Amino acid sequence: MPLERCAEGTCTGCGACAAICPKAAIALTPGEGGFPYPRVDPARCVGCGACDRACPLGAEAALRRPARRAAAVWDLGEGRAASTSGGAFGAIARVVIAGGGAVCAAALELPEGRVRHTIVEDEAGLARVRRSKYLQSETAPALREALGLLRKGRRVLFVGTPCQVAGWRRLTVPFGDRAPACDLVCGGVPSPALFAAYLREEERRAGAPIRGYDFRDKSAGWNFPRVRLAFANGRTVRRIPACDPFFAAYSKKLSIRQSCYTCPYCASERVGDLTLADCWRVATTHPEFDDNRGTSLVLCCTEAGERLLGDARAAWRLFVGDYDLARAVATNTPLRARPPWLKARESVLAATDAPARAVWRALGRRAWFRGFAVWWVRRLGWFWLRRRQ
Ligand SMILES: Cc1cc2nc3c(=O)[nH]c(=O)nc-3n(C[C@H](O)[C@H](O)[C@H](O)COP(=O)(O)OP(=O)(O)OC[C@H]3O[C@@H](n4cnc5c(N)ncnc54)[C@H](O)[C@@H]3O)c2cc1C
Repeated sequence: MPLERCAEGTCTGCGACAAICPKAAIALTPGEGGFPYPRVDPARCVGCGACDRACPLGAEAALRRPARRAAAVWDLGEGRAASTSGGAFGAIARVVIAGGGAVCAAALELPEGRVRHTIVEDEAGLARVRRSKYLQSETAPALREALGLLRKGRRVLFVGTPCQVAGWRRLTVPFGDRAPACDLVCGGVPSPALFAAYLREEERRAGAPIRGYDFRDKSAGWNFPRVRLAFANGRTVRRIPACDPFFAAYSKKLSIRQSCYTCPYCASERVGDLTLADCWRVATTHPEFDDNRGTSLVLCCTEAGERLLGDARAAWRLFVGDYDLARAVATNTPLRARPPWLKARESVLAATDAPARAVWRALGRRAWFRGFAVWWVRRLGWFWLRRRQ
């Protein structure tokens, strides 16, 4: 039986099995919390075992390599404002596209509120896949398309969470250096079903459909992100993340996939050629690398990764500053620890009618006020620190 190892607690939904199946017998369908899980159609399955060979479960240790060095990076052009942190992803993707390659990365689809990986082959398409979407993305159709491009001799860069990159690496062994990958430092992926329910609740409150959503709006500065919701009636809402029910549940790890609690990639050994993250706490460790417009942390893990970053630096206006690797690991929790399991998770994931009420009940009303206060104290502290430097 294919995918016997694949239980709700272990499967990451990376989509490698569905992408490689020669009979299209595997579909990723929503399971607990709307997270995608593979289901095999026994009428189509011929038992070839391709899915088992592509599945990265059990091969994690062999896929991880220690990070060699860290860098603080930002795009000196307009790409930075359009990105979640410093825009490192955009600069690296542009190099691949300029060389005739393609990029497989995640785009948000509204009003459904789904995140899907998609293939981008020109610079105009990059706008759709820039920025972090704190949701589990659907990968299988894009992976199939990417494999088609690789078979035609093209180069394809994949960007995704470490578990998705693990699937990519298992799928692309025959293509070697033509299939580089960037993984993201990831503290877990939140429930797609909870996000959809939360969007519908926000739409009811605003009296209009959602038109734009930014998980990390930088208008108050990168150090002080806010959630931005834009509605068809012209209304725009910006919220401190800890005061937004979806983001508050995510920050407290109440809405993430089961397998995230046992994630083998919450470590400084990485699965991608490069790792992309936010260079958090850079204001205190290297104030010269922080102007509040966004600083990416990039970990170089392979020779191919070093080359990608070097090419991006040579081809585009990209600032790359040496950053202490040990400090990077110490200040970015998912590089050293897994998220803790919380009992309230079940009640939050089950609340698809009134998610906001369920989240605040689970977190306690005081969480809202504490989140609000912490955001403002941090903001004032940052300005105070800047004036002293
Ligand atoms: C679910 C998730 C959790 C994260 N957790 C952390 C964290 O705890 N600490 C930290 O420092 N950084 C985290 N990051 C990474 C961070 O948010 C930025 O993506 C990273 O700093 C790169 O920023 P950038 O400006 O270089 O690129 P951006 O332009 O912001 O590009 C982001 C890249 O990530 C891809 N992407 C976006 N959303 C998804 C998704 N849902 N699934 C797969 N790929 C996606 C995009 O397609 C794009 O390629 C997380 C990202 C995600 C998606």
